[in-house]
Amino acid sequence: MSALTRIFAPALLFAAMTAAVPAMAVEEAPSTVDAVYKTQSSTVALQPGEKVADLFTLNMNTDYVLQRLTDNTYWYESGFYATIFYVGDKGVLLFDPLEMRAQKILDAIRSVTDKPINTIVYSHDHADHISGTAELLALLDASQKKQPEIIASKATAEKMELLGSNIPRPTKVLQWPEDSFKFENQTIELHGFAHAAHTDDHSAWLMKEERVLHAPDLLNSDQPPFWNFAGSERFTYLVQNLKTANAMDWDYFNGGHGNVGSHEDFNFHLQFIADLEAAVGKAMGQVPFGFGVDMEKINAHTVMLPAWFDEIARIATDELRPKYGEYYGFETATPTNAQMIAEYLYSYR
Ligand SMILES: [Zn+2]
Repeated sequence: MSALTRIFAPALLFAAMTAAVPAMAVEEAPSTVDAVYKTQSSTVALQPGEKVADLFTLNMNTDYVLQRLTDNTYWYESGFYATIFYVGDKGVLLFDPLEMRAQKILDAIRSVTDKPINTIVYSHDHADHISGTAELLALLDASQKKQPEIIASKATAEKMELLGSNIPRPTKVLQWPEDSFKFENQTIELHGFAHAAHTDDHSAWLMKEERVLHAPDLLNSDQPPFWNFAGSERFTYLVQNLKTANAMDWDYFNGGHGNVGSHEDFNFHLQFIADLEAAVGKAMGQVPFGFGVDMEKINAHTVMLPAWFDEIARIATDELRPKYGEYYGFETATPTNAQMIAEYLYSYR
């Protein structure tokens, strides 16, 4: 595949898929945290712990969801991707211009304010979260005098350089792993995960006075862990990263996918992971290495480890099904997550 096809094909496919699905009523999966659901509103703020009602249906059938979190902070989601923005006295602070959503994000911002977008923050160097930037800058070029400052951590800036990113580079770089900056009278703290699960530049961004935490791909709120723990490059440090973020002082969480989050979502994830780890550990003791492989017919041992992990993951998923089976995406995500945990338990003892 050419680089261009490789970059754009998945997003284009997804856009085509959502556009092709007709409006229909489906039963939403039950809340993992017994959340109180509220009808989406860009004017009425959510109380901490409250979530947007019928979110799967809204993602499938509407241009975007815009939910007010506080007096000044708003949560945006479309096509199952979410970000937040803060409306100050003079301008707007926007986190993560999502891929292929620049116009919709700008529409959402313009539905609540005419103020210029003065600052953009990159949470981490994953194109699906920040590659709407070039399009957004082009749109802003026509409508505001000054281009926004783009802020990222040193880890993200260096990673973009190392990998030759074609996404607009940050104009201001914060120290890694801990730093902060001011947006008007607000303090925005960078808490990089020195040992990160998702990517080596993964970080949590705390809007201190607003009490909002932004850490896309750390967890999907109101869901069991997403496939490969939200696309994490390794499971190894995930529990530590979740505990670190959960210990911070905030009321609202944006995980970049799923619903508006709370500390209850972190507690749910930690419990789910503990249960899955126990089930995987138990299965590893039960399934003999070489399970399912006909030793008379192979000429490479390569087949043995994946076959072992497959069976362990199947048994662990079966064990969790009575407690978690009804939750969002459980059947799709849990076997791969069990495999990641099996690999972790095999490697670290
Ligand atoms: Zn990511």
